[in-house]
Amino acid sequence: MRLIKILKFIYKSEHPHFLSVDKETYFKWKFIIRIVMNLNKSYKSCEILRKKYKLMEDFVVIGLKYNGKNVKRRTAGFAKEFLDDNVGANCIYCDTELNKKNATADHIIPISDGGNNCKVNLVVCCKYCNNERGNLDFREFMRLKKRNYKNLFI
Ligand SMILES: [Zn+2]
Repeated sequence: MRLIKILKFIYKSEHPHFLSVDKETYFKWKFIIRIVMNLNKSYKSCEILRKKYKLMEDFVVIGLKYNGKNVKRRTAGFAKEFLDDNVGANCIYCDTELNKKNATADHIIPISDGGNNCKVNLVVCCKYCNNERGNLDFREFMRLKKRNYKNLFI
């Protein structure tokens, strides 16, 4: 059964930078997937839905490697690149329209908390929210900013 395979993967996985499952499976088995996710201590659960990166379409990122290898990619150009690909994009936290002056890259899991610079750990937001969030947990901050964040696709 496919689910058993996925659960085994989630429980045992040590190497990839992030764990993800396809959207359909996730919504069907959310509860059990979350429990198994929390059993794997190498990962920190983050539960975000991504569709903006072509490669991750229809995937739900359910965990990022905690204290994983740092990917030494610089984040400086990330926000600019993101804006080139997503004209008229808004801050994921407060919906302010982003431009080259106010857009910054934000780490879902802060570097200080073991997060890294890999693409799945980055979102683009406005400078104001970036400062306001500080090292607050991504989900906690999303909950503060957006009540319906669980339904968001970012
Ligand atoms: Zn904002």
